[in-house]
Amino acid sequence: MTRAMRVHSNAALTGLRARALALDAKDPLAGFKQRFLVDEPDLLYADGNSLGRMPASTASLADRVLRQEWGAGLIRSWSNWVDLPFAAGDLLATAVLGALRGEVLVADSTTVNLYKLACAAISLAPGRRRILIEADNFPTDHYVLSGIARERGLELVEMPVDIDQGLALETLADYFDDDIAFACLSAISYRSGARIDMAQANAIAASAGSRIIWDLSHAGGSIKVDLSGTGSELAIGCTYKYLNAGPGAPAYLYVRSDLIPVVQSPVRGWFSQAGQFEMESDYKPRAGIGRFGAGTPNILGTALVAQGAELIGEAGIESLEGKGASLTDLFIHAADRLLAPHYFKVRSPREARLRGSHVTLGHPRARTVARTLIEEARVVPDFRTPDRIRFGLAPLYTSHTEVVEIVARIAQLEASGRF
Ligand SMILES: *Cc1c(COP(=O)(O)O)cnc(C)c1O
Repeated sequence: MTRAMRVHSNAALTGLRARALALDAKDPLAGFKQRFLVDEPDLLYADGNSLGRMPASTASLADRVLRQEWGAGLIRSWSNWVDLPFAAGDLLATAVLGALRGEVLVADSTTVNLYKLACAAISLAPGRRRILIEADNFPTDHYVLSGIARERGLELVEMPVDIDQGLALETLADYFDDDIAFACLSAISYRSGARIDMAQANAIAASAGSRIIWDLSHAGGSIKVDLSGTGSELAIGCTYKYLNAGPGAPAYLYVRSDLIPVVQSPVRGWFSQAGQFEMESDYKPRAGIGRFGAGTPNILGTALVAQGAELIGEAGIESLEGKGASLTDLFIHAADRLLAPHYFKVRSPREARLRGSHVTLGHPRARTVARTLIEEARVVPDFRTPDRIRFGLAPLYTSHTEVVEIVARIAQLEASGRF
């Protein structure tokens, strides 16, 4: 870097820092960072879209569930525990997902829930022989659906997609016809953060007499999803990313209320059985969303999901979406100013309404860049194939100042020739 360039970039950094401070000063969510455990104040955490931070109240909540409910209450606590997956589902439905009470259940993993809802979707589309998936959907979605396709003698069709800009609605319209049982799409792409218009996509599916299973893993808690308003019928998602419920916390599934009575789970577990404790050997599915339960739910994890949903509800999903847009806008602006355009390229959509709360940079040596940031700069992003570095800027606890510092630390390493 020449001296003139360095002077220019120092001036740019001073301006960016001032701008970040001004944005933080009027951020209505600024206080939420204190609600999380922050062990190393100078660590810049940009991976809340892979594993959300731990809420400060998690330890005392877990302690209560363990000591009081399990330790002291013993099996008597099941009288309350049996309702927890429904109560947590209702919190998610109303505070996070724009769904109705009784449409969301907390259970199992995202992967297993996709299996359950994919089988349900196939049963709604007799005679249709193909399933659609966007080519760049999350790997577990590909694996589950390829297994089901093989088991059922169906064909899994991959739709071509720009890995940075996401699936085009025109492509979706081209592929949907009356032989498609359903499509599985991510509302926000895990790699680039590209966002698809759910209402328009649902309308395309409906015009072919079909439907979409939405994977909301990177959307739930980061953008206003509005399942009811967008005409969504089926959805799944995980809770350890923007919902901060902790590693391996149970996932959720959504079935629109009118469909619940006409679909069933392929996993006929006793937690999906009507009159479960009658211990009948004939299977009869429960009346509500509980028919998608399976075995004994993870109570500690479900309690943490409920807490995560409450925090999102308190912050307000519209405020969170607005702040996510502001953080990612600032990140892109700072990257344009401070990083060498020759090496670092913004790969996420540049328009805020077209992305979620994470931003991806491309760099020819992305794997090294990500590792160096973690080991030498105390910045935690993650590497994604083929040459991408992903920065998750969780709106609940990330400040604008941190965003500018993340880019400043990358620029500093770059200037020192580390990449
Ligand atoms: C994180 C993620 C998952 C995770 O699935 P699990 O079964 O919870 O491990 C699934 N789909 C997408 C799109 C994800 O981003």
